[in-house]
Order: sequence, then C-alpha cells, then structure tokens
Amino acid sequence: MSIYISGIGVSKGIAISEAFVLVREQLDTTQKTLPPSEIKSEIKRFKNALSLANSQLHAIKKKIAKDTADDIVSFIDTHLLMLMDPAFDEGTITNIKEHSCNAEWALQMQGERLVQVFDEMEDPYLRTRKDDVLHIVKLIQTCLAGKKQEDDQHYYKGKIIIADDLTPADTVMMQHQKVAGFITEYGGPLSHTAILARNLGIPAIVGLRHARQLIHRNETLIMDGSSGVVINSPDKKSLKYYRSVIREENAKRNLLRKLTGKPAVTLDNKHITLHGNIDRPADIQLIKKYDDTGVGLYRTEMLFIELNKWPDQKTHFKTYKRAVKALNGKPLTIRTMDLGADKEIQDTIDHGPMAHNPAMGLRAIRRCLQDTQDFMPQLLAILRASAFGPVRILIPMLTNVKELDQVLALLDQAKQILQNDNIAFDENIPVGAMIEVPAAALAVDAFAEKLDFLSIGTNDLIQYTLALDRIDDEVSYLFDPLHPAVLKLIHMVIEGGKKANIPVSMCGEMASDTRYTRLLLGMGLTYFSVQANALLEVKHIIINSTVENLQSEVQEIMQLYDADEINLRVQQLVNFL
Ligand code: PEP
Ligand code: MG
Repeated sequence: MSIYISGIGVSKGIAISEAFVLVREQLDTTQKTLPPSEIKSEIKRFKNALSLANSQLHAIKKKIAKDTADDIVSFIDTHLLMLMDPAFDEGTITNIKEHSCNAEWALQMQGERLVQVFDEMEDPYLRTRKDDVLHIVKLIQTCLAGKKQEDDQHYYKGKIIIADDLTPADTVMMQHQKVAGFITEYGGPLSHTAILARNLGIPAIVGLRHARQLIHRNETLIMDGSSGVVINSPDKKSLKYYRSVIREENAKRNLLRKLTGKPAVTLDNKHITLHGNIDRPADIQLIKKYDDTGVGLYRTEMLFIELNKWPDQKTHFKTYKRAVKALNGKPLTIRTMDLGADKEIQDTIDHGPMAHNPAMGLRAIRRCLQDTQDFMPQLLAILRASAFGPVRILIPMLTNVKELDQVLALLDQAKQILQNDNIAFDENIPVGAMIEVPAAALAVDAFAEKLDFLSIGTNDLIQYTLALDRIDDEVSYLFDPLHPAVLKLIHMVIEGGKKANIPVSMCGEMASDTRYTRLLLGMGLTYFSVQANALLEVKHIIINSTVENLQSEVQEIMQLYDADEINLRVQQLVNFL
C-alpha cells in the first residue's frame, strides 16, 4: 500500500528510486571527570581530533574541487575556517581545564554555547548558520571517537538518501556520488545544505520528522522536491504519472539549456536586457552556470552583514573589483547599502531601527545620508572599481528628490577626492535609483530627469503600496503583485523612463516569476534582472512572445479592478504568442 508523507520541499525536481537510510552510530558525549594528570593528554587528544577533521575536510575538498564551482567549494572553506576558529579550539580547551573533563563533553558544551549565540541573531540567514556549528561539532566528535565519516558512499549512487541531517560537505559528496535526491529529518529552507542542493540541482526535502523510522532501506520512493511530498511504495498509477513528469522536466531542461548565450529577443524583434541578481561576487559563478550575462542588482548588504560592521574602503574596493573582474566586461550594477528592517548589523541596531516600524525607519539611503562619513568609503570604492569594467551605481529607498540631490553631491565630492589623488574611475558612471517607494513612483519624472536609469524594486513597492510587512507571515496573503494599484505604479515608472529616455529595469522578485513575464513585456518593460536560476526560464518566455500582440491585451488588464479577473487574464496571456 502506498504511504504519503511530507516535509519541506527545498530543491525542486522529482526522483524515483530506492531509499538508502543513513543510520549513524550514537556518539557518547557524556561528562567524565579526569584526574589532573590526564588533562594534558586529553587536550592533546582533542587537538589531534581537530587536525584529523581538518585533513578529512581537505581531502573532500580536493576530491570535488576539479569539477565543482568555486562557490560550492567555498561551503567547505566555511567549515575549515570554523574548525580553525579559536571559539572552538580555545573554548573547548578552557572547558577541559576548568571542569577537568573529557574532550567530548567539553566540546559539546562549547558547541551548545555557540549555537545559542547564533540562535539569538536577528538575521534569519545568520541564525541558520548554527547548523554549521552542529556539523563541525559532530565531525570533531566522530574523530574523537576514532571513527571515519560514512564510508559506504559507493552505495549511494542513484539512491534517495534518508538522513537525520546532512552537512554541506556530505551534500557535495552526494552530488559526486550521483544520488537521486535526499530527505532529511531536520533543517530548513535557508540552511546551507538546502541552498547547496538548489545550486547543485539535487531534489531535496528537509524537516521530514521521523523519516528514518517511516522509510526503510531499499523501499521504492517517489519524492517531489517542490511540494515536499514523498510516496512510499507507490502504486503503478503514481509511478506512471511521475515518470511522465520527469520526462517533461528533462525535455524542458534540455530545451532551456540551448538558450544559454542566445540573445533575449522577442518574436517581433524587441531586444530585452536580461541580467542576474547577486548578493556577493561568488554568486557570479551561479549566473554563469546558466548564462553569460551582466548583473542588474548587486545587493551589497551581505558584505556588511558578514563583517557585522561597515566595511572600510579597502574591503569594499577589493570585493567590488573582484565582481567586476569576474564579469569580464559585462555590466555590474552595484546597489549601495540597504540595511535596516529585516537586514541588520549591530551598528544599525544602535541607530534605532528597533522602532515600531523598522521597514519605515532609518533604512538604506536614509541611514547613509545621516552619517555620510560611513557612506563615503562605499561610494569611493564603487567609483574606483569602475576603472576595471562597466559599473553602474544604484541607490535604494529614495523617497524624495532632495535625498537624490544629496547623494549626487556626495558622489561629486567622492569624484573630486579621487581626481585629487590621481586615482582612475569612470567619470560618466551611470547613476540610477531603485523605485520601490510609492512616492518615488508617483513622482518618477522628477527622479528620471536627474538619473541615467531606474530599477523597479517590486518587493518593497508592493510592501509599501499594500501596507503589509513583507516578512510578516500573517499578512503574506495580502502580497499581490497583480493588485491594480501596484500595476499602475509599475506602469507609471516604465512610462516615466520612456519620457526621459532612460532605461527602466525590474529587479524585484516579480521579474523572476515567469507568470508575469508577458504582462511586463506588454507593459513595455525591456530590462529584467532576475535570480540566476530564473534566467533561462524568463528568456524562454521572452523569445516566444510578440510584444505588439501583448500590448492591447495588457492595456485592457490595466483597466480591471477585480482581482480574480486580473489573475485569470494574466494567466491567459500564456496563450498569446
Ligand atoms: C525590491 O525591493 O524589490 C528589491 C529588489 O530590493 P530588496 O529585495 O533587496 O529590498
Ligand atoms: Mg527593496
């Protein structure tokens, strides 16, 4: 009889195969008191385990490095760095000395302390980094017990792996062993392992509690990495259905792959710019995996968040130069810092975003203009990076033209400083604004006349137009890119750009969602900046669309107010060539 169970689908794709249940031996980490004479040798035993763990990770890195992208190898580097961090080393040794105890327990205590530190972090991304701490603790504990990490990897090939949890290193190794997919009992969609599975294209489900009791070795499974559904011992009808879905997916993937490197030109010969969004220079590798194109949005906040402070000019410059070089002549749009609301570092917290309404508080450019001393190094570094390839500056969260005037004046000052010091930069570096506050959309003409380009940030534009907090689950049902007010604002911005004869892009999530590609083309959008994995899907729709045919249909949609009707009509655009 078929059994249906479900977890959180974190990496799309269907797999049909036999289950391989990973049963890991329970490691003994109970506290043992040692006589003073044994403390020195216990510390030595711990250090040996550390260096064994280190060489095991290096061995994995060496094994996968040849044919794996740098950003994926860098997940293992993160673990190597953590292994060397004094927080593990010194903290555990102090515990051994202070409690006269065994290394296993001392490490366990230290691990729990570090997990608590990560648990208390505001940022949901950083909070999930506690998984890395747990993985490192487990690796060292395994080494202390004198055991090797799972050795039966050659049995994995083609199987669906069922585990309590997987480390990023396990995940990369599994891709190497060509597993069909994996299901874990723990973990969330933001964990490194989930991100990696998506990057590597391995179907994955996490958070399926008790999976190792519900599923047995060699049972046949169907897993759907999008919905999170697992069918245990499927009947013939389910097998037939899911096999046909796999065939369709493969055909689609092959078709999309052929679009790599092809220009995004519509059937009526309209040239559309299609760029990718990144958070850090390493993400450029991901873009290249799909297409050789530029970057329409580089969110620089991650640099601040990773350092938990404002970077100095040197760090900014080094990072941006790396991105420019990686793009090899393709354009890079660097957005100045957008901290505040859901993205915080200690400094912005100190400046009071614990206000009742942080999304409307001292966020992004507002914070930069409060303290221009902090902002200047970023402007200088972006300018300096522009000497190495085409760079554009993008300003987030502008609400009024006065703010824009202030930014432009600061930029002139920065240029002057570099000129005085004889440092090269692009004197005509294009400057653009994110249009993501309704006030800026309504007053678009005033912005457009002073700028070289505009970029529509639909994530915030929708949040502020519909008065809903974009990170509050309780009001997420209100998030509607097709709300007539949102459509009108988007249209105003596109028209404003046309009037001023400057390009308008869209870099919010709406641009990556293929359900809206034709609507946006019909509205006159000619520049999409999307998530790397949406590049080819969006391109596929673009090259199979005729903008002229879409225009009158979209004009009619723009007159509607009934949400269901708008939805239906947008869905029907699929039939318009
Ligand atoms: C947006 O608001 O649509 C956008 C692209 O910026 P972010 O998601 O970084 O706020
Ligand atoms: Mg935004």
